[in-house]
Order: sequence, then C-alpha cells, then structure tokens
Amino acid sequence: MQLDLRDIIYVPGASAPFEYEPDLSEAVGGSIVAVRPGASASGRVRNSAGVLHFDADVEAVLECTCARCLKVFELPVHRSVHAVLSEGENEDDPDVYTLCGDNVDVDEIILTDFILNMDQRLLCREDCEGLCEKCGSDLNDGPCHCKSETDPRLAVLGQLLENE
Ligand SMILES: [Zn+2]
Ligand SMILES: [Zn+2]
Repeated sequence: MQLDLRDIIYVPGASAPFEYEPDLSEAVGGSIVAVRPGASASGRVRNSAGVLHFDADVEAVLECTCARCLKVFELPVHRSVHAVLSEGENEDDPDVYTLCGDNVDVDEIILTDFILNMDQRLLCREDCEGLCEKCGSDLNDGPCHCKSETDPRLAVLGQLLENE
C-alpha cells in the first residue's frame, strides 16, 4: 500500500494514520507455508521536528509446518515495526526507507521486517521430539519400536543375560 504523506511531510507535529490488510504472501518460505487471510497492519507516520517516523503494529496468523515433526500448526504473530523515512538515498542504514515522491511503500517496510525477523525453522512446540529417523513415527506420541531395540541400556542388559 502506498501512503500519501503530502500533508505531513513539511508540517512538524502532523501525522498520517493507516490501517489495512497487508499482503504478506512473500513471507512464505521455510516452515511458513501460508498466511491466513485477515492479517492487519495499523499505525501512522509522524513528523517529529522534521523527521518522519514510521510505526506499525502487524498481526497475522501463519500456517506453519514443524521443522522436526512436520505437523501443521498455526502461529499467531504480532510485530511492532519502527522505521525512519527519508527523502534522499540512505542505502547505508537498513532502518531508513526512502520515499517515493511524497509516498511511502508501507508493504515494503512491513514485509522487510517480517522476512528479516521470522525464523525459517519453526517448531510446533519448543520440546518437539520430532520423527524417528528409522521408521518415521511421531515420537511425540511415545517411543517407537525401533527406539527400544537400539536403546544402548537394553543392549547392555541383553549382553549380560547372554553371558550368564
Ligand atoms: Zn513438531
Ligand atoms: Zn522408529
């Protein structure tokens, strides 16, 4: 979304609010398989003593695949995005965005924040046990058969029994 800043760009103290549904589909990748419809972005650009400050609250629900057990789960995400807008080129500072005439590309700022801050490997829960490398069972549902067969403690016990 392009936000027109014509009315605030030279007016210290003025601000331009916005609220819309951002297109976050470019954030899909890695564990993120989809962005649920209904994402929201609201905030404003404020002229503070001639400097344009951008603030936005972004809420979205991501559809993810666990990097360990491949289960599909939903992840609600909330981000507070801050940036400074500049009329000139400021390629050295990644938190400064250049205006396009009197407009700012809000999607670009929100998407950049999202892509830079989201983990590409997400887990359904912190202590996800993952899948057995041999049989593919979901170890969150309990140990599989091949796990007990290769348990080193049982192997030692088996040897002791054999030697008797
Ligand atoms: Zn998992
Ligand atoms: Zn197994």
